[in-house]
Amino acid sequence: MLTDIDYNMTYLTVSITGSDAEHFAEQCRQAKAQGAEAIEARLDGVKGLTATLAGELVTAARKTKLPVIATCREKEEGGAKSFSIADKTAILAECVKAGAEFIDCELKVFAQKEAQEPIKQLLKSHADCRLILSAHQFKGPFANLNMKYEAMLSLWPMAICKLVYQARHINDCFEALDLLHNAGKDMIVFCMGQAGQMTRVLAKKVGAFLTFASLDEHNGTAPGQIPVSQMKRLYSWDRLDRETEIFGLIGNPVGHSLSPALFNAAFDKDNINAVYLPFCVEGEQEQFSAFVDAMVARPWLGVGGFSVTIPHKTHALDFVKQKGEFVDGLSATIGAANTLKVGFNGIVCGYNTDYAGAMDALTSRMGVDTHALHQVEVAVIGAGGVARAVVAGLADVGAHVTVYNRTVQKARSLAEEFRCRAAGIEELSRTQATVVINCTSLGMHPDIESCPMPEGVLKPEMTVFDTVYNPIRTRLLEAAEKIGAKTVTGAEMFVRQAMAQYRIFIGTEPNEKIMRNVVMEALSGGRP
Ligand code: NAP
Repeated sequence: MLTDIDYNMTYLTVSITGSDAEHFAEQCRQAKAQGAEAIEARLDGVKGLTATLAGELVTAARKTKLPVIATCREKEEGGAKSFSIADKTAILAECVKAGAEFIDCELKVFAQKEAQEPIKQLLKSHADCRLILSAHQFKGPFANLNMKYEAMLSLWPMAICKLVYQARHINDCFEALDLLHNAGKDMIVFCMGQAGQMTRVLAKKVGAFLTFASLDEHNGTAPGQIPVSQMKRLYSWDRLDRETEIFGLIGNPVGHSLSPALFNAAFDKDNINAVYLPFCVEGEQEQFSAFVDAMVARPWLGVGGFSVTIPHKTHALDFVKQKGEFVDGLSATIGAANTLKVGFNGIVCGYNTDYAGAMDALTSRMGVDTHALHQVEVAVIGAGGVARAVVAGLADVGAHVTVYNRTVQKARSLAEEFRCRAAGIEELSRTQATVVINCTSLGMHPDIESCPMPEGVLKPEMTVFDTVYNPIRTRLLEAAEKIGAKTVTGAEMFVRQAMAQYRIFIGTEPNEKIMRNVVMEALSGGRP
């Protein structure tokens, strides 16, 4: 009895390769246990593959009671080897007899009469089995994606068309999403490579028939595949549907960001139909603006907003300014926006929550409100992006700030802008500050032995804030704790800026405990 196929769902499909039937069956069991909703039996990599063995492997995969796709991928389309047409058709015939619900055949092979006739006969005599006609382009997008799709349909109108190409840049993904959205048929379209990853998750939002995931990080069958457990847990696969609102982090790199885990956990807890993805946007203003424009111009994607990180915070601000839309006063003062909120009408507004995150973390740990920082002597170490947000916040409440930086010229120009003092980093040993804030990357993983403060300068009456959050307890904070000074972690700032973003995105108060737990767990169980 074949598995009933629900053509309204997007099957989370795990590609299985295995050396023999036993190994294959074990991997299928593991895939199902991790949440796979369909199995692709990737037969091309199996040693000594015969039609009989292929049938046995499909039988093994069917024990999971999940729909099975039998695929014998040709080498030039990403498979392990090439097959003669006679071998390929014999293998696929055995797979159909063994109960595969789908067989995959490359358009290039199916277009040949010698392959087409026997496969058509096979499908006619097994009405429960459907053909997936596939085409893969590893060098970049197809010359004409829509024409390729039409060519497939003209050969076999009942086919599920599968079109896969390498995304060279994230902005290559939109053509794939458009075809999925416009076709209104059972089909599979996505992009390979890191730059194409969003199409693998958004496939469900846009209504693809299936998307592929790997069994784990080591068993991918194509570049950019995301492990099935990550699809299920990190990207909340079960919650995704056509109504899901899309949020994400735009930056480069974004691979190690904690933000997807943090926001998705908060959405889960609050039962909000939204997902938060990493969007790695390579390039400068032009590529950034093209990405945001493309996302927003497709209302069916349902984009709610973006967090923005290095190197795009100034691009985000300029994007909103160019459109003449709302920018909060602090983003304008700081010269950077780390949050973009997309309204229902597609209007994009810019905010900066780094400032609020830093000031909240500092004042709550000191047990004071921001006014208490008026005329307090503060040493800010560093003159980069984070230092800018921190100095803007402190200047706003009238603190007496000195900016210490390795490149003294940068300290001077930041200090000039916010009317405070500047010095070289070596002058820190003479500081009279009662609040010290490290805004350099000194002490950040893997450079964990570095400390921006010279020995003997910290005093017990100081409050020491390290914006570095990986590790949570940096050498600077350890030294401050040791002499009894108050400490503020970068993790605290990170959680608080994310909470401020959540309020902008969703309009409600986030679950602080969940957000804090995700960050602490990811950063190895320390305390904020
Ligand atoms: P940035 O714009 O690249 O600035 C880096 C700063 O670090 C510059 O002032 C630079 O000095 C200084 N620096 C780098 N290497 C140094 C060295 N070996 N010796 C002395 N100074 C050095 O970076 P950013 O965006 O401001 O980020 C800075 C840090 O903030 C990050 O490393 C990260 O740990 C932390 N951060 C925390 C959060 C949070 O939420 N907690 C968020 C974002 C970032 P020069 O000007 O001389 O190059």
